[in-house]
Amino acid sequence: MAIKVCLDAGHYGKYNRSPGNRNYYESDMVWKLHLYLKEQLESYGISVVTTRDNQETDRGLYERGAASKGCSLFISLHSNATGNDMNEKVDYPVAYVLLNGRSDDVGLKLAKVVEEVIGTKQSGRTATRRGNNGEYYGVLRGANAVGTPALILEHSFHTNSVVTNWLLKDDNLKKLAEEEAACIAEHYGIKKLKSTVTDENKTATAFKPYLVRVSISDLNIRKGPGTNHSTMGKYTGKGVFTIVEEAEGKGAKKWGLLKSYSDKRNGWISLDFAKKI
Ligand SMILES: [Zn+2]
Repeated sequence: MAIKVCLDAGHYGKYNRSPGNRNYYESDMVWKLHLYLKEQLESYGISVVTTRDNQETDRGLYERGAASKGCSLFISLHSNATGNDMNEKVDYPVAYVLLNGRSDDVGLKLAKVVEEVIGTKQSGRTATRRGNNGEYYGVLRGANAVGTPALILEHSFHTNSVVTNWLLKDDNLKKLAEEEAACIAEHYGIKKLKSTVTDENKTATAFKPYLVRVSISDLNIRKGPGTNHSTMGKYTGKGVFTIVEEAEGKGAKKWGLLKSYSDKRNGWISLDFAKKI
């Protein structure tokens, strides 16, 4: 089953400034976080739609929720407030979930992830809120109307100064995005797509260097494994080289990295013209 997630940056423009830290706007935090989360989810092969093209434009609550039509999950990202003043005692992460229970499970998991990553003193939890027309919150009403399990995820409180300082750091938001994406993927039983970097590292650690004798007298040395990489020199005269890494690439069955260049990870030769000795 293909999983598609709809991400909603909870507010637009410059909105909900922290009363204790003038650098913090909830709208800025959630804008960054939803883009990081999109990137992370996509690394699992999960497709993502967002409810806004840019941070400057407002869009109705119900409409944003309804934009999740056809999605497996709708998440609206926020940070919470206790009022117009700071309150250092309150920091619980909360997921507002649907009254019908369809987002309870993933909502609680995500609230616990936020608790763990931020390190809040109070525990992550779920809550529901009923209004006159079913769901109190417009985004949840909109998402529920199109049949999407939905939640509002409050990333603790911007009325708590420790949390506000924490949320101002991009690296922390990246960590949140990473763990939230891992949680969502796990919830749907999805494993991360293998990245080429990881594969390369694996090859490099498992690989035993070996000697080759070159069979032609003018062999190109290239910056990368493939004829699509530019040449950085030529080896003239047949000789013996140590190969410290192999890779697949354009123009040859296999490419070998020469030991003499390997500190910069360039200096590749086509192994079609080299024989293992
Ligand atoms: Zn909010």
